[in-house]
Amino acid sequence: MRTIALLGSTGSIGVTTLALVREFPDRFKVHGMVAGSNLKLLAKQIKEFHPACVAIKNESDVPQLRALIGNGKVEILFGEAGASAVASASEIDVVLAAIVGGAGLMPTLKGVLAGKEIALANKEALVMAGEIFVKAAKAKRVRLLPVDSEHSAIFQCLQGNERGEVDKIILTASGGPFLRAPLNRLEKVTVTQALKHPNWKMGQKITIDSATMMNKGLEVIEARWEFDMAPEGIQVVIHPQSVVHSMVRYQDGAVMAQLGIADMRIPIAYALAFPHRLKGSWRPLDLTQHGELNFLPVEKKRYPALALAYAALRDGGTMPVVLNGANEVAVAAFLERRIGFREIHRIIEETMQRHKNKRAKEVGEILEVDRWARENALALIH
Ligand code: NAD
Ligand code: MG
Repeated sequence: MRTIALLGSTGSIGVTTLALVREFPDRFKVHGMVAGSNLKLLAKQIKEFHPACVAIKNESDVPQLRALIGNGKVEILFGEAGASAVASASEIDVVLAAIVGGAGLMPTLKGVLAGKEIALANKEALVMAGEIFVKAAKAKRVRLLPVDSEHSAIFQCLQGNERGEVDKIILTASGGPFLRAPLNRLEKVTVTQALKHPNWKMGQKITIDSATMMNKGLEVIEARWEFDMAPEGIQVVIHPQSVVHSMVRYQDGAVMAQLGIADMRIPIAYALAFPHRLKGSWRPLDLTQHGELNFLPVEKKRYPALALAYAALRDGGTMPVVLNGANEVAVAAFLERRIGFREIHRIIEETMQRHKNKRAKEVGEILEVDRWARENALALIH
């Protein structure tokens, strides 16, 4: 039995995780949940899964949540401190970190510091504070288990092989909805078009990140820290069908790949049950249903965000913090229809150019740079 703190319970990953808890009640139990402002869904989840504690984003929402759950017994906390308390509660074995964006950093890190195993979906936390995160995890002997499908694939391809014999990590990217759109039409694409991911159903922010390919950029940085790999050792290839979830090439030239249907239950279950594999209700992969699998190089002009992410990774220091903060602000502005699709990478690039890079030793410095990046990006949008 694994006792879980589920950060981001009302999101796409959160809801999928709860589907697994529902399917495997003998294996998983939810002790705590953290969510933003979808109180109705959270109340429903509390009634079904009976967590001992929950934390929501805003204190002002506490009375409404209380009213929604009636006489259900649950401790209600709020804010970052509340989320951190849920992540570090003594009853917890594993933190499933699935808050979206920088808001997930502190609660997840608090989980690490409390010695909890981390099943990580919240890639932004590693992008912002990879070095600090990995160091803390080592010091606390905490295992980081990837939930992101690509990283789960890589993690699986590494099992039973010599880590020192890895030549390259190869991340696959679907290319998003604009893989074949004429380049001159990208300036004018709408929010609705950008939200139509060809293969995966996910939260809005990551779906836009997939359309710009910033998602893959963030994943390159995530892989750098999760697998201790230099930027040159991480490659991205376009694979429109999203059947091969990622690959590892070894020094003898052999490539290991992990394949599967596009269903996040599989990587989430692998992270939560590792090293075991669960026999779930999802359908197994049948390659004859797919016909062709294609692999193409990434077109640089179509996806400038990917180059920005590689640049931030090579620069190191606080540059990835700026990349991430500016991206979050620009994506939110695009979703609110305040800027165009191609403005997203321009705002990030401009903010990165203005940043005086430094090495951050503490989270406090990272949060300060994050604030600076968001303010700067916002000013550019205005
Ligand atoms: P989502 O937008 O669907 O859900 C986000 C969750 O975080 C919600 O429960 C929301 O209430 C909560 N939240 C947001 N801000 C909060 C705050 N300040 N305090 C407390 N809770 C807050 O996002 P998602 O698609 O589930 O993605 C979550 C994370 O997982 C992201 O980092 C994403 O990159 C990663 N991820 C998602 C998928 C996927 O299939 N959705 C796949 C790989 C990785
Ligand atoms: Mg992914």
